[in-house]
Amino acid sequence: MKVFYSDHFVLPLPEGHRFPMSKYSMLRERVAEEGICGPGELRTPRAVTDEEILRAHDPDYLGRVVSGTLTPKEMRRIGFPWSERMVERSRRASGGTLGACLAALQEGFAANLAGGTHHAFSGRGEGYCVFNDSAIAARAVQAAGLVERVLVIDTDVHQGNGTAEILRGDDTVFTFSIHGAKNFPFRKEQSDLDAPLPDGIKDTSFLAALARGLEAALDAAGADLAIYLAGADPFVGDRLGRLSVSKAGLAERDRVVLESCRDRGIPVAVTMAGGYARKVEDTVDVHLQSIRRAADLVPREMTDQKRTHQA
Ligand SMILES: [Zn+2]
Repeated sequence: MKVFYSDHFVLPLPEGHRFPMSKYSMLRERVAEEGICGPGELRTPRAVTDEEILRAHDPDYLGRVVSGTLTPKEMRRIGFPWSERMVERSRRASGGTLGACLAALQEGFAANLAGGTHHAFSGRGEGYCVFNDSAIAARAVQAAGLVERVLVIDTDVHQGNGTAEILRGDDTVFTFSIHGAKNFPFRKEQSDLDAPLPDGIKDTSFLAALARGLEAALDAAGADLAIYLAGADPFVGDRLGRLSVSKAGLAERDRVVLESCRDRGIPVAVTMAGGYARKVEDTVDVHLQSIRRAADLVPREMTDQKRTHQA
């Protein structure tokens, strides 16, 4: 399966910053070790262009992100210090989601080991999100004439508020968010379908709510492509999650989402979104489960072709 990574575009952070930057390189190493990718399939994405970003963001916001002239208050809301590398990393992370969408349209499934930056609004960033990769990628594949309708399946524990805001009123992209009702962001936007969950919810109730919402979203979206935000933060060991879903429960989440899409013939680009477990290894385990499950669903003839090429 084709997997895009951008962890070598390191974002300089002050000592003690709580963003788990190490999870990205650890995840890429695990993906490489497990043989999930054939030769040349673990790829660096290109940076998305201004034109691509402007399908989702205001020109004024893009201009100020690029020139480093966001106000201190705006930067605090994003949660990273500004640097040229922050801009480049944000462009590459969105490029990874776009690359995964294009690869998924060819092979059924693909992944970006970053992205899921769903708190980026049209005119501002927040919660470690600068550009909204889902909106940028969805509109890029639409602009290329490859798909008409896209479904965003956001299972990160935090609501996909920026995605909802950017895509509000756009009938060609359906946004579904299942998230902690009492968690950040405290003022929610309205997705096409929201499934708010109570604190402390466990596997059975979480999976029942997911199944209900997902079926409704798939029915309503009529999508040609899905972007799946496989956030690791509904995990019981997450510092910010407030839910109690186990690793097995999250593996079942992946199975339900990915197989439901496959059964309807919808290609899926998997993205990472959040994950703040007390032990970063747990976050990486949860993300790796999602990647592995998607790779297992790439049709056999794709794998066979790959073998033939290798021979
Ligand atoms: Zn999150």
